[in-house]
Amino acid sequence: MSRRPMMAANWKMNKTVREAQEYTAALLPRAADAKEVDVAVLVPFTCLHEVARMAEDTVVTAGAQNFYYEDSGAYTGEVSVPMLLDVGAGAVIVGHSERRETFCETDDLVARKTKRAIEAGLLPIVCVGETKEERDAGDMWDKVSGQVRRVMEEFEDADGESIVFAYEPIWAIGTGDTATPEDAQDAIGKIRDLLREAADRDFADTVRILYGGSVKPENAAEIMAQQDIDGALVGGASLEVASFVELVEAAQNAVTPSEQTED
Ligand code: PEP
Repeated sequence: MSRRPMMAANWKMNKTVREAQEYTAALLPRAADAKEVDVAVLVPFTCLHEVARMAEDTVVTAGAQNFYYEDSGAYTGEVSVPMLLDVGAGAVIVGHSERRETFCETDDLVARKTKRAIEAGLLPIVCVGETKEERDAGDMWDKVSGQVRRVMEEFEDADGESIVFAYEPIWAIGTGDTATPEDAQDAIGKIRDLLREAADRDFADTVRILYGGSVKPENAAEIMAQQDIDGALVGGASLEVASFVELVEAAQNAVTPSEQTED
C-alpha cells in the first residue's frame, strides 16, 4: 500500500488529565515501534494540552474531536482552530456522527469546518456514514456520497495529504456490530472512486480513508487487509491503551507482515 496507514483513537467524552497522562506515557514507546503507521489520539479539550505536550517530537499526533470555524468571538462554549494550534493539536475530527446526530451538525457546517482546518494546516479527519434505516432503505450511497461531495465542493486544488476521510456507518459505532470487511471495502472503494471525479486521480490515490465502527483487535487485521482501507478511527477499543496498541500493531503488520512487532 503506498498510502501510510493511520490508527486514530477517539476517546470521546472520557478520561481525566491524570488518566490521559498514564495512557500517553504507555502509548508513546509502543507507537514508536510501529514505524510505518501514523498514530493519532483525539482527546477531550481538557486534556489536549497535556497529551500534545507529552507527544511533542514523537510519532503520535494529539488532536481534538471538534472546533468551530470562526477564529474568535461570541461563540460561548466553542473552541477555535488557533486555540487548538496553540495547545499543540495536529489533527481534529470533523463531523463525527455523534456531533451530526446529537448536536445537529449539518453537511454545510462540516464542510466549512473542514475548509478552515485545512487552511490552518490542521489535519481534519472527516466522518461520513449512514444510519441503519438509510442502509435498510437502500439509501446508503445517497447519504454518504452527498456528505463527501459537500466537503469536496470547498476545494479547488485539493491535496490528498491535507485531509483524511473516515467511513463510519452509524449502526456500527459503539454497537459491536462491525461492517464486514467486504462491505467496508465496498463503501470506501466507492468513496475513492467518487473522489477521483470530485478532485482528481492523484488526490484519490493519495487521500487516506479510514473505517470506523466497532474496530477491535479481533477484527483489525481483516479490515486492514482491504485494498482501499487505510486504517481505522476507533472509539471503544481505543480507551484501554493495551487494546489500542494491538490495533496500532495490526496496522503495522498489514504493511510489513513478515516483521511482526513483539509484545
Ligand atoms: C467512533 O467513535 O468513531 C467509533 C468508531 O466508535 P467505536 O469504535 O466504539 O464503534
